[in-house]
Amino acid sequence: MNILAIGAHPDDIELQCAGTLALYAAAGHRVTIAVATNGNVGSPTLSRDEIAAVRHREQQASCDIIGARLIWMDYDDEWLMNDRPTRTRFIDAIREADPDVMFIHGQSDYHPDHRISGQVAEDARIPASVRLVETALPHIAKIPHVFYMDNPAGIGFNPEVYVDITSVYETKRLMLLCHESQDTWLRAIYGEETSITDLMRDNSKARGLAAGCKYAEGFRELKTYPRTGTFVVLPGFWT
Ligand SMILES: [Zn+2]
Repeated sequence: MNILAIGAHPDDIELQCAGTLALYAAAGHRVTIAVATNGNVGSPTLSRDEIAAVRHREQQASCDIIGARLIWMDYDDEWLMNDRPTRTRFIDAIREADPDVMFIHGQSDYHPDHRISGQVAEDARIPASVRLVETALPHIAKIPHVFYMDNPAGIGFNPEVYVDITSVYETKRLMLLCHESQDTWLRAIYGEETSITDLMRDNSKARGLAAGCKYAEGFRELKTYPRTGTFVVLPGFWT
């Protein structure tokens, strides 16, 4: 299968679904990570262009760990908008990845870029398959199955399905560690105690407790027409 995860910022995908992506990649599926914004406000010292370049390199390094392709959409951080150019760009990201399964942000998320990214991705999944919706790339043949990702503290997000990521937890941690610039930034914004890996570990453990394993990622499913079978497409449920 082709798998596409769309995150608002560099590091979002690692926090919420890198374990699941690592399992897909290990099983031979083709994984693409699309990142909507370039993270160009995420530094207490560097210029916007400088931090964007750093974050692009960090994201590529993370993708390389599991052999994922990167689609770098390069929108300004904090200014993602739900408009026609943005939806067009998202349609092209979906057309480029041609996904069977897609992971996107949900609407209970704390960050406006996350919510906008999730909404635009959700709204782009059907037009991506429509021939006369003309963009830079031709239409694709299938409409992907969509899962919403968890948010960092799990607030307002009640997972319906879990993926046991215990066997790939270290891979997920290494992918997140590629985003070195964000550890400094998160500590500056949210307090010295909050390391990016601690945040991820605590969420993975909490979801693991709920799922009956050591570490897990939780998801909800987009339940609108057309649908495919939930468990057919998730790691751990293949038959
Ligand atoms: Zn984010």
